[in-house]
Amino acid sequence: MELKLINVSKIYKGKKKNDDVVAVDNFNLTIDKKEFVVFVGPSGCGKSTTLRMIAGLEDISKGELYMDGELMNKVEPKFRNVAMVFQNYALYPHMTAYQNMAFGLKNMHIPKDEIDKRINEAVKILDIEHLLHRKPKAMSGGERQRVALGRAIVRTPRLFLLDEPLSNLDAKLRAQMRVEITKLYDKLDTPFIYVTHDQVEAMTMGTIIVVMRKGVIQQIDRPENLYDFPKNRFVAGFIGTPQMNFYEVSIKRVLNSIEITLPENNKLKVGLVKLRKIKDEYLDGNEHKVILGIRPEHVHIVSKKQDDSFQVETTICENLGSETLVYADFALGKDKNIRESTSSIVIKKYDRNLYSPKSNIFVEFEKDKIHLFSSDEKEETIYQIDDK
Ligand code: ADP
Ligand code: MG
Repeated sequence: MELKLINVSKIYKGKKKNDDVVAVDNFNLTIDKKEFVVFVGPSGCGKSTTLRMIAGLEDISKGELYMDGELMNKVEPKFRNVAMVFQNYALYPHMTAYQNMAFGLKNMHIPKDEIDKRINEAVKILDIEHLLHRKPKAMSGGERQRVALGRAIVRTPRLFLLDEPLSNLDAKLRAQMRVEITKLYDKLDTPFIYVTHDQVEAMTMGTIIVVMRKGVIQQIDRPENLYDFPKNRFVAGFIGTPQMNFYEVSIKRVLNSIEITLPENNKLKVGLVKLRKIKDEYLDGNEHKVILGIRPEHVHIVSKKQDDSFQVETTICENLGSETLVYADFALGKDKNIRESTSSIVIKKYDRNLYSPKSNIFVEFEKDKIHLFSSDEKEETIYQIDDK
């Protein structure tokens, strides 16, 4: 299966030209082997619209959609041979699981024994043999979602499209179904495209992730690359919990080091070899305003003042069992609304030592985990992209 989207856009026409909504803007993607593709981004960023254009449920305003080399823009949904699973699984309430799964196949005039064979295979894969003769009202949410997946599988599509299929389930079931869907993907020979606003689902399930914002692709990458090498501040902030810490800083090259001025005039000097390769224009010896990002897990509490450590003042600690979040601020001895302060810092640590509020502690950044972004509206990484 090869899927190709070339400059695909969706414009919802308003009454006047100014009312037009560009829901998807120049979307480009090529998938040429079996992948678990995840479209992720905040609500309203165009994920469902893109998926629906692939399914044929929504017209493509501009651009081209190819499947296995064939232009699909004008091909009707039923001839695209894709299967879609939605958040509200939309099973027919008066039909059993078997009948629900068989329904579409009967309409396609597939012989009865072939239908039986496909359903038998699907229920084995999904472990729902015992549900075959039950109606949806006698099933749990997770069971219904499994039947909905079964209904998609029996169609033997060349592509699975899933739109937030787990968002109606409670947290525990969601985690369980996440694993089930990944297992299902492993068993089948078919690529998946999976839409979610949940970065944990994206990171745990995706083999390739498309991060979207306001209709525009921000980055297409493998999960570990998104986490390690975000191309801009949006991606950096979207992937990972708690969110990356961000600060407006200035940087200045001095010989073979970079001097970084952090909030409250804290200075950090880092040898250029310790950082990823910074674009030349930032290394001219002048001061440059940039945004520094550091993940909570890359900030470490140290026992005493050292060359590269800063003093911060704690506000609260949250014990999450396996880890502890320490909230603190670079500003010392002041009253402040800590979570909103531009000098606040979140530290993730893997022990249970707690600090009482207003404790002064010393923290250090992992130098090679420091992210730097431009301070213009693009907020792009100022590291050379090829330097991973
Ligand atoms: P997501 O699935 O990422 O939450 P959608 O793809 O559903 O986002 O929507 C993308 C954007 O397109 C949103 O701003 C939404 O309001 C807009 N939109 C969706 N459907 C329509 C429509 N029929 N008419 C006008 N705007 C729409
Ligand atoms: Mg949606």
